[in-house]
Amino acid sequence: MIPSRGIEINANRLYNTFKIMNIKSQPEDRLALLFSQLSQPARIQILLVIREQPACVCHLVAALGLRQAAISQHLMALREAGWVTTTRESRFIFYHLSEKRLFPLIVNAAEIAGIQHGDIDKISRRPLENCPCPQCHPELASEFSCKSPPSQV
Ligand SMILES: [Zn+2]
Repeated sequence: MIPSRGIEINANRLYNTFKIMNIKSQPEDRLALLFSQLSQPARIQILLVIREQPACVCHLVAALGLRQAAISQHLMALREAGWVTTTRESRFIFYHLSEKRLFPLIVNAAEIAGIQHGDIDKISRRPLENCPCPQCHPELASEFSCKSPPSQV
């Protein structure tokens, strides 16, 4: 039996191959692709949350208020775009913003949209009271991992 993770990786490879075969070379097409990769609120939130400091999935769940499965899908898309990388620290996987030029792009877009700087900063504020992650609540870090978070903080 093929483990489900293997199927997921093969599906990603097929998707990437398909994408590579369809890459359009015109600058406007490539820019449209970049903006489409950014075009979901959750992805913009994730990029802002990890802009200065990496975060584990638990933190992203607390910060965005979405289910872990939804966060994982967005993280996969951001990794495929080459914007996010991971490191492992004991039982935790941390997501880093590897394409730092995205942040000024988002700030400029926010100015065009009439959004205050403070409102952008609020998205990335830490620590979060309702977050059980080792960065927000180091005292809980020895008791769990993102796969088995405590039910109450
Ligand atoms: Zn946290």
